[in-house]
Amino acid sequence: MDRAQRQDLITRVGTTIAIDGPAGSGKSTVSRLLAKELGIGYLDTGAMYRALTWYALDRGIDLRDHEAVAAIADEMPLRMFSDPEDPHYWVGDTEITAAIREPRVSENVMHVSTNLAVRRWMAIEQRRRMLEARNSGSGMVAEGRDITTVVCPDADVRVLLLANPQARLERRTRELYGQVTPELLEATRKQIDERDAADSTVSEFMTAAEGVREVDSSGLDIPGVLAAVVALVEDDLQQRAGG
Ligand code: C5P
Repeated sequence: MDRAQRQDLITRVGTTIAIDGPAGSGKSTVSRLLAKELGIGYLDTGAMYRALTWYALDRGIDLRDHEAVAAIADEMPLRMFSDPEDPHYWVGDTEITAAIREPRVSENVMHVSTNLAVRRWMAIEQRRRMLEARNSGSGMVAEGRDITTVVCPDADVRVLLLANPQARLERRTRELYGQVTPELLEATRKQIDERDAADSTVSEFMTAAEGVREVDSSGLDIPGVLAAVVALVEDDLQQRAGG
């Protein structure tokens, strides 16, 4: 299928693509490239959890007070400019694109993402964005931990991206520090282990749910993973458009 045929099918039937996976699986890179390749929207759900963490810290709210944090989610004036090549995030007039990647947020996000009232709010908001994009003759790639299972279990294409622990560790270290040394690997290992442990108390993102395609990125380079997911999307578009 060439690009023009694919675009035509997307305009006709729309598409929602859910990509879950742990830190270091390559899901961010793959999701962005996929959104660009298909000319559809991109939703980084982790950035939404990070934005709410930033907002609560900024307002001086105790992150362990689950009710207080959930209460401000609705008032948060979050604006997302989700160009997959260069996403930008704002709360009100303050740009938070860089701030949400800082250690202050990374180290605290687990308090917000283990808040079940926040998770319910996030799921509704994220699902609304995905379906809106699909219904407007386009589509959306959403990446996270619970998109294939909770947010959009009826997504057209659902993928769990996995990688072996060493591949994840090296990828994440390079992402965070721009290089890989034994010391940096150790520092990153601690962060990944802590976050995985907290995240796995609220979402299952290491085992594919029924109907979710598992893609192991360990032995594949990024173009290889991208090609595998594009093939799944094309199959689905063809099927839904009537073969
Ligand atoms: O993907 P990223 O590392 O930016 O996500 C930040 C945090 O947000 C994760 O560690 C996880 O706690 C939380 N998260 C989540 N569910 C999602 C996306 C992210 O719990 N769908």
